[in-house]
Amino acid sequence: MKIGFEIHEQLETDRKLFCDCPTDYRDAPPNTNVCPVCTGMPGSKPAPPNRRAIESAMEVALMLDCEVVVDEPIYIQRKHYDYPDLPSGYQRTSLPIATDGELNGVGIREVHIEEDPGKYDPTHGTVDYNRSGIPLVEVITEPELHSAEESRDFLRSLRRALEYTEKVRPEPGTLRADTNISLEGGGRVEIKNINSVKGAYRALKYEIMRQKKAMESGEGVIRETRAYMESQMITVPMRTKEVAEDYRYIPDPDIFPIVIERSQVEEIRQSIFEAPHLRERRLVKEYGIDSSIARIMVSERKLADLFESVVQRVDPEFASHWFKDALKKVLNYMNMRAADIEFTPQQMVKLLKMIEDKDITPEQGELVLREMVKSPADPEKLVKKLGLEGLVEDELQRAIDEVIENNPKAIKDVRKGKEEALNFLAGQAMKLTEGRADPRKIIKLLRKRVAENK
Ligand SMILES: [Zn+2]
Repeated sequence: MKIGFEIHEQLETDRKLFCDCPTDYRDAPPNTNVCPVCTGMPGSKPAPPNRRAIESAMEVALMLDCEVVVDEPIYIQRKHYDYPDLPSGYQRTSLPIATDGELNGVGIREVHIEEDPGKYDPTHGTVDYNRSGIPLVEVITEPELHSAEESRDFLRSLRRALEYTEKVRPEPGTLRADTNISLEGGGRVEIKNINSVKGAYRALKYEIMRQKKAMESGEGVIRETRAYMESQMITVPMRTKEVAEDYRYIPDPDIFPIVIERSQVEEIRQSIFEAPHLRERRLVKEYGIDSSIARIMVSERKLADLFESVVQRVDPEFASHWFKDALKKVLNYMNMRAADIEFTPQQMVKLLKMIEDKDITPEQGELVLREMVKSPADPEKLVKKLGLEGLVEDELQRAIDEVIENNPKAIKDVRKGKEEALNFLAGQAMKLTEGRADPRKIIKLLRKRVAENK
């Protein structure tokens, strides 16, 4: 089984790709951010391609380990097809800006830019051209994925890598992707209309089942393009696959080809963030943490940044568990992202040191962390603010008194050297303090008291 993807994302620019119209189309009334160029008027003259868009696409390409095409003309082509959202009758799309990349062992065939079409509403028969001409980056993978599950994981990593660049603006909760799938002995089937990672997974699941059945029954699988129907979770035939000639690609005679110089690539390479999949590998190697934890750390660039500044002064293994379990839990609970964190790395270091040095219990540490996320302050001050000092100390003494008074038999057993009895007493004390006290401390206090009261 061979599966590949074509993924489109909008690039974060102020202006459209071939004209000066603004790109903030979401809140604008229909057909207000338009001009003759992006509505495809005959005789309109497109501007040279937006530099920012080209640079952003180069960043995406470098993030995916691609080779940028340098010192040769990259033509803008016209790709002809007929649809109401495409007023000129062709979509402008560049030749590859970069090729030969890799992400999680899957080849990236090419990265190029193109213009977004308008938005057609078939129910009302209306078209809004505000989106027409917004720059898109398209990433095409090699057909090197082998299952629906693998594809789902790959799409998640790809989105994360694109987000890391901070140069794309995915429409919230959506993904614009086409996928192609072929089983051994069957034709290549392209599936369009995929709008989410989950949608891609379901479309592939359905398609694998359909193709297997068709082959088993001797009917065979023809080469075609199908559409994914989100509501029914099935794919239906769209048209027999166009071959490239059907689009009648020609270089756009109105636009000079793009030429990228090597020095430009190097400049961008210096300025970009480390790709998340590479960073994940580095975190494992550099700090000796588990790869599953490293993956969680790089899920957000800001989380990984915070982690890396904290582990300069705290044991990485210890810190990583606190990030993975406690911090992620608090953030999820408060519906926040790491980017929303306002406390400083120094405050996190201090908190972890207090826990490591047993100044406070892990349970108290979690309470302080939660408060620190809510209203950033020095963790020592937060311990006082939350009344975690003293109170627990008193409570603990009282709990121990109570346990000793109520369990004379167990105390005798401890004196006879029965360790289980000590654990039983500690368990009772834990119950009384509702799990807020440090079990090690309880054991220590109990031993002391049992020895004293002979
Ligand atoms: Zn325009």
